[in-house]
Amino acid sequence: MAGEKTEEQAAEVEIIKAVRGAASTPVLPVRLKSGDMFCFACHRGVSCWNACCHGADITLTPCDILRMSKHLGVRPKEFLLEYTVPAIWEKGNLPVAKLKMGGADGQGACTFMDDDGCTIYEDRPVTCRYYPLGLATVKMKGQEEKEDFHFLVKETHCLGHEEDNLQTVDKFRAEQGLADYDRVNRGWMDILMKMASWTVLGGPMGKEPTAQTKKMFFMVSTDVDALRDFVVNTKFFDSYDIEPDRIEAVKTDDIALLDLAFDWMKSVLFMEDTVKLKEKVLREAVAQARSNMGAT
Ligand code: SF4
Ligand code: SF4
Repeated sequence: MAGEKTEEQAAEVEIIKAVRGAASTPVLPVRLKSGDMFCFACHRGVSCWNACCHGADITLTPCDILRMSKHLGVRPKEFLLEYTVPAIWEKGNLPVAKLKMGGADGQGACTFMDDDGCTIYEDRPVTCRYYPLGLATVKMKGQEEKEDFHFLVKETHCLGHEEDNLQTVDKFRAEQGLADYDRVNRGWMDILMKMASWTVLGGPMGKEPTAQTKKMFFMVSTDVDALRDFVVNTKFFDSYDIEPDRIEAVKTDDIALLDLAFDWMKSVLFMEDTVKLKEKVLREAVAQARSNMGAT
């Protein structure tokens, strides 16, 4: 019934999946919080060195694409064409970019791997940094606040779990520089989580987002150049009520641009108040709708 389709569902959503292999279900059913301990180390001496860099299923986040294209000295558009494949993030039915793996079946070595290891290590994707931890977030129906937690993935090929290195989740996170990535990706992860929590009902408010909205989400997620062109060189600022400081910032600052874009996507997808239409635009839209319905 239509009335049942107006409430977001309680949901626990994996955002960073952290499973590299295929067959088994290696996620341990334990929620790990910041002070919880786990045993793991990865270094050149392990006999599985780089085993996890073959056939890996890595969804690239906006922060990944920014950092990797900068590292390689290419624009995001070129990076996308050369190093990624388009895919659907199935939990929320959203288009994303995945890191291209070698081999006709995509089970070969990662493009960035050579005999010495990862050639883009300082700017490797967030999924590679998190491994063997995953990141999930949970939001209960009717609650504003969501809660992040980690989970541990134990794949049989990964011998790092046998290393004698007990550490807290916090220590691992700090060593991997995860906070910087999470800060940039926060708004994007919020969108994934919300979409997943609506999926069972067919999409936000029971409706699947249009193909155009999904296209915009892909642009927001992957290409700051196209995004800036859209925001700065269209009537975006004439239509939306954005503070002057923020307008100036998005012209040159990629992180500010992404923050605005995530807020805008939330307003488009979930009708949140994160970015508001200007009064004048709203009045015109209402007048147009009335005229379309034959009202005076
Ligand atoms: S980016 Fe680096 S760490 Fe990640 S899968 Fe590729 S080679 Fe491995
Ligand atoms: S220990 Fe695990 S993470 Fe490290 S190289 Fe081996 S398979 Fe990859």
